Amino acid sequence: MTDILSNKINRIKPSLTVSINIKANAMRAEGKDVLVLAAGEPDFDTPKNIQNAGINAIKNGDTRYVPGKGTKNLQEAIINKFKRDNELIYEKDEITVAVGGKNIIYNAFMATINEGDEVIIPAPFWVSYPDITLLADGKPIIVKCDEENDFKITPDQLEKNITDKTKWLMLNSPSNPTGSTYTFSELKEIASVLIKFPNVLILTDDIYEKIIYENNKFYTLAQVEPKLKNRTLTLNGVSKAYCMTGWRLGYAGGPKNIIAAMNKIQSQSTTSTSSITMAASVEALNGNQDFIIAHNVEFKKRRDMVVKNLNLAKGISCSLPTGAFYVYPNCQGCLGKKTEKGKIINSDEDFMNYLLETEGIAGVHGEAFGMSPYFRISYAASYEILEDACKRIINACEKLI
Ligand code: PMP
Ligand code: GLU
Repeated sequence: MTDILSNKINRIKPSLTVSINIKANAMRAEGKDVLVLAAGEPDFDTPKNIQNAGINAIKNGDTRYVPGKGTKNLQEAIINKFKRDNELIYEKDEITVAVGGKNIIYNAFMATINEGDEVIIPAPFWVSYPDITLLADGKPIIVKCDEENDFKITPDQLEKNITDKTKWLMLNSPSNPTGSTYTFSELKEIASVLIKFPNVLILTDDIYEKIIYENNKFYTLAQVEPKLKNRTLTLNGVSKAYCMTGWRLGYAGGPKNIIAAMNKIQSQSTTSTSSITMAASVEALNGNQDFIIAHNVEFKKRRDMVVKNLNLAKGISCSLPTGAFYVYPNCQGCLGKKTEKGKIINSDEDFMNYLLETEGIAGVHGEAFGMSPYFRISYAASYEILEDACKRIINACEKLI
């Protein structure tokens, strides 16, 4: 029988971050001693005021179809958020809402990419960028960004990779999986390249905006260079800052024509995210923000402990991330070594399989994010679990010969 599936679907793979996480949690549920550090979500509950806004929405009958681009209250909350936090002024027809940040990227690429259009994706990247590009018939152009440059794209690298087919540049800061954050001046330099190429659109994925440490300050491209605002889609969402991964809401500000096209796709696909989620997100964006500070204090404690301990593991070096809740350690020093069972560790994937099999550590290998030999550990887990995990990793590395 000929393949019944579409060329599009045969081009892509399932999200590895989603599948590894599901597999590791299933192993735990079967009673296996597995520490799941693969999660891309905060381990804190959705704050009470936001939960209650959702419950009240159900009780008050906010349970019917709502506009995909957001209810009036949500649109106002998003406009105020962009103004308050990012000095970005958007009109109502310049913002949209979707079923998560992932769905914003999907709608944007479906709305704009023609066959063969290129999307520049700095690596390490969040796993979904290349596959959503492929689904939209685009061509991912992966640009490897050195650890020495904090895994960030340089203006030179960017300029070299722009062609007359470049449709989008993806920028993600703070980054998943590295936790790196672009500074104001780094964004300004990137902007100075982009100004020379007026046909390039930019998608800035700001979903980890609020999870940032020490004196690092978050900036987004359209704020740093207002001349780029008319071709930048500024993506954000409630999943990470407000611990609402399961509620499914992302939003974006951008040029009217792109926003209208994204709304058209949404109207013929998901219609909208849930009315209840929209009501809860209004409270998230407008309500008290103090818990974010408390969460970051906790995340920072864990980050410092994890980085310190991973640097004690033989063959591993781990730099200190400035944002998000991931570390991206280098495991070059473990490659070529042999396990007790006589298996040679040839790649970061072998290393992660070894950690899972011998120590019950579930993280994600670097190749999934387009850059080896590294691995991603999420520290959105309790301090005790992370301490235990570090001990196990140190032990596993010690045993390699
Ligand atoms: N961008 C990045 C970099 C992410 O890590 C995530 C988390 N999955 C998303 C976008 C999308 O998140 P969501 O769809 O839950 O809003
Ligand atoms: N963004 C998270 C992660 O990288 C959640 C999973 C996903 O949507 O890919 O693990």
